[in-house]
Amino acid sequence: MLQTDIDRVRTADIPPQGMIINGQWQASRSEEVLDVISPIDGRTFTTIPRGTKADVEAAVASARQSFETGAWRNMPLMARKAILLKWADLIEADTLALTVLGVRDNGTEIGMAEKAEAGSAIRTIRYYAEAIDKIYGEVAPTADSHLGMILREPVGVVAAIVPWNFPLMIGAWKLAPSLAVGNSVVLKPAETASLSLLRLVHLAHEAGLPEGVLNVVTGTGDVVGDALSASMDVDILAFTGSGRVGGLILQNAGRSNCKRCYLELGGKSPNVVFADALDMEQAADATIGGIFRNAGQVCVAGSRLLVEESAKAEFVEMLNDRVATFRTGDPLRIDTQAGAINNAGQLEQIEQHVETAVSQGAELLAGGHRLHQETGGFYFAPTILDQVAPESSVFRNEVFGPVLSVTGFSDEMEAASLANSTDYGLAAAVFTRDLGRAHRMVRSIKAGVVHVNCYGGPDITVPLTGMKQSGNGSDKSLHALDKFVDLKTAWIAL
Ligand code: NAD
Repeated sequence: MLQTDIDRVRTADIPPQGMIINGQWQASRSEEVLDVISPIDGRTFTTIPRGTKADVEAAVASARQSFETGAWRNMPLMARKAILLKWADLIEADTLALTVLGVRDNGTEIGMAEKAEAGSAIRTIRYYAEAIDKIYGEVAPTADSHLGMILREPVGVVAAIVPWNFPLMIGAWKLAPSLAVGNSVVLKPAETASLSLLRLVHLAHEAGLPEGVLNVVTGTGDVVGDALSASMDVDILAFTGSGRVGGLILQNAGRSNCKRCYLELGGKSPNVVFADALDMEQAADATIGGIFRNAGQVCVAGSRLLVEESAKAEFVEMLNDRVATFRTGDPLRIDTQAGAINNAGQLEQIEQHVETAVSQGAELLAGGHRLHQETGGFYFAPTILDQVAPESSVFRNEVFGPVLSVTGFSDEMEAASLANSTDYGLAAAVFTRDLGRAHRMVRSIKAGVVHVNCYGGPDITVPLTGMKQSGNGSDKSLHALDKFVDLKTAWIAL
């Protein structure tokens, strides 16, 4: 992507947006709208409908009807696959406009957004489209008197509720496997990152997805998300977001139809650097990328650096050097390393986390303040907090911003114990040249993904699974398909 191309479309007028129900752009039944504020400059640049419970009911009814008529689930597999592949092609052709639109809405730096948003959505949709005709049923090892067949069937209506940090990537992780196996879907984007998903779903219809199979209701979580999780006609709720909202969703599921809930929640991921790391400079680069890309608004961010005491002073100095030249700013500049914080409320929370950390004894080595306030946008400096005690708040709680806490350890056992001493279990990293130690740490850290000598980058072929309070169920890989099917047994007397 070239800067001149980005600049050409960065101020394009975006008309007021509609929701997509039964293939049609629609206003909210209340006719109310929400302002879409760009975190780049704090200005409103369009509106989205403020969805109501009645809108949710209409979208769920549309999804249910499309499922029952079988327009999608009974379509020949090759035709279903062709539509999904065409969808991915249309997204690829639209990458520039789609990516810039998303960045104006959510603030992710454009280099990252190109790869992790449009790029990831394309790869994900192609991956699950290709899987459609490669997943077989099973024949059970029964006695000769019977044939036991295990069939996989689409479940019905899936509701997908997604956050604002990577709407296209996380949206595609839910939409593509749900649709590939034949379900119908109602999607609820975050209120501060809806635009690129609306465009993505529009492209799905252009690719030939039948009306009603994929619906979008925009609006606030406490109304639209609440109505989806309380719906008696949603079969599966696939959620990515905070633990607080995950808990509310489970309560609603229990009070309604006991729908199946998959919750991908937050993290406080340890990044463990041993003094015997292969290459300290490379470990420092990976540590910086692991916490500061997308301004730390990454569920798997390596927000807790655990570093062996004998190497700590030198390593922290390397980090400080890198932070001194780190470019946080306009996310639509291709040389920007971290863009904006998604919204004003989140910016305030990040500031409070840092204040609390310092009041609890952390030493502020870098950052700790807002940036570029003259733009009206929401920016926070990459922040390093040293001497962070394991019992302190910033060691245990997710900040979801560019804040790295640093804690020393003296041996492998202490490193593993510190790594596991939060309620989360999403991701981790270990830097060491000792293969045995790397394997021991992979086994002892309770996290869905443990990186060794790198941070980030696992592709669509491997699952992302939360452990402990980071959730359940796997996004990505063929395992994700299991979430969206029912297993049915056919037991046949021979
Ligand atoms: P959030 O929980 O506030 O919101 C997520 C979504 O839930 C939004 O669409 C929101 O509108 C909706 N929502 C809000 N209240 C709701 C309610 N009462 N009922 C139903 N839905 C409701 O999270 P966020 O601030 O948008 O995103 C940040 C969080 O997401 C962080 O905790 C981050 O770690 C997590 N996250 C996790 C993963 C993962 O794969 N585990 C990936 C990305 C983000």
